[in-house]
Amino acid sequence: MQNKKTIKYDVAVVGAGMVGISCALWLQKSGKNVCLLDRGAPGESTASGSACTFANYACIPINSPSLPLQAPGMVLSKNSPLSIKWRTIHNMIPWLAQFLANCRPSKVTHIIDSLSVLLSHAEEGLMPLIEDADALDLIQRRGCLYLYNTEKGYEAAQSDIVARQERGVSLQEVSPHEIHDLEPSLQPIFHKGVLFDEAFQFLFPGKLIERLVEIFVINGGTVIRGDVKSIDSMGTDEVRLRYEDNDLLASKVVVATGAHSKTLLPTLSGQMPLDTERGYHLMLDAKNTSLNRPVGWAEKGFYMTPLEQEIRIAGTVELGGLDNEYTQNLLNYLEQTARQALPDLGAMESRWLGFRPSMPDALPVIGKSPLSSNIILAFGHQHVGLTLGGITGKIVASMVQGEDISFDILPYSPQRFS
Ligand SMILES: Cc1cc2nc3c(=O)[nH]c(=O)nc-3n(C[C@H](O)[C@H](O)[C@H](O)COP(=O)(O)OP(=O)(O)OC[C@H]3O[C@@H](n4cnc5c(N)ncnc54)[C@H](O)[C@@H]3O)c2cc1C
Repeated sequence: MQNKKTIKYDVAVVGAGMVGISCALWLQKSGKNVCLLDRGAPGESTASGSACTFANYACIPINSPSLPLQAPGMVLSKNSPLSIKWRTIHNMIPWLAQFLANCRPSKVTHIIDSLSVLLSHAEEGLMPLIEDADALDLIQRRGCLYLYNTEKGYEAAQSDIVARQERGVSLQEVSPHEIHDLEPSLQPIFHKGVLFDEAFQFLFPGKLIERLVEIFVINGGTVIRGDVKSIDSMGTDEVRLRYEDNDLLASKVVVATGAHSKTLLPTLSGQMPLDTERGYHLMLDAKNTSLNRPVGWAEKGFYMTPLEQEIRIAGTVELGGLDNEYTQNLLNYLEQTARQALPDLGAMESRWLGFRPSMPDALPVIGKSPLSSNIILAFGHQHVGLTLGGITGKIVASMVQGEDISFDILPYSPQRFS
């Protein structure tokens, strides 16, 4: 990491999470002189604690017509993956109001259509970066499994399964017998499941991001450790970025600071309803048990993902802002429920809280700021930022180059909130 004063770059990318590093690499591939800034170390961003799935099937949002009816019971139950921090929830009322408006059937169909277009291009945005970084060893192609422990849960999921199939997602329905063949360590408690055979697993996404940053530097990119405090458009062809006591000038700035973009937003775009869906993971010792691929327990709202000698239990949605206080009930819920599926799991080795950057319409924001065409916004990838980082980077680089994009990106425009 190096600090420089008042240097001019073609593009400065703020945020070295999966979205930011992907933007930096695609911009560099297009010939730009790029600087990447982050206040933390590469590899420690939200993706590092994720469920590690390349989830190109994940076009079904949390928003659904039935959720407004189900949600009150879920948040009041201790045995549920949905929770609210009542102390801070008043700050989220505008977001919640827009979220509920996006639970209407026509809105949900629009979200599914728009997300599935982006997801169908996810691999073309990601794989060139992984190949350039010589990081194929950090992915494993065995698909992802989604399981249902009740007939009722599986029947309720039929419309989602059909919606995925209609949009070209490759999947196979699996019986209890087939579930056992795929994952012999699981208890025989599952009624049915779905194997997404074209999905895959990241083996330590934090390491992948480190590898991507390394190749960015090898290819001439600059990485700066710094907390960006402000971003100001200076006339028609320059943006000034202030971090610590330094100024940095660039022709364009990409804002890829995930859920924390909220603090930078007022000067960039006016108000925009970005907030966070908090999520947790636990790492449990797995010396006496194993999984072959990420397994999502659909009704319970979490994944069980094998990572060397441990299994990561990752998921839950908690509404309540960006503070670092853990909710023990959710951690208990994850641990106790996971042990029902994998009773030979060992001791808990670590726990983690992360902040999904979420818009109330479950679609990312990718596009020029309404206040300056030299500032490009790239955040709000909610539950699928690890999957969509690569294609977001490719879109951003095309925008900066003034090149056409092969599909309609209007659904992700920041202008949709103006
Ligand atoms: C429990 C859980 C499980 C998940 N599982 C999956 C999954 O299996 N598959 C999937 O695709 N997605 C998953 N996600 C979602 C995914 O992790 C996120 O969507 C994605 O990581 C967001 O990436 P980002 O680059 O936009 O933001 P972040 O990863 O949050 O990165 C933002 C970066 O900006 C930096 N930053 C912030 N503010 C500043 C500032 N002012 N100055 C300088 N730097 C700043 C931060 O330090 C950080 O490094 C999961 C999320 C959670 C919480």
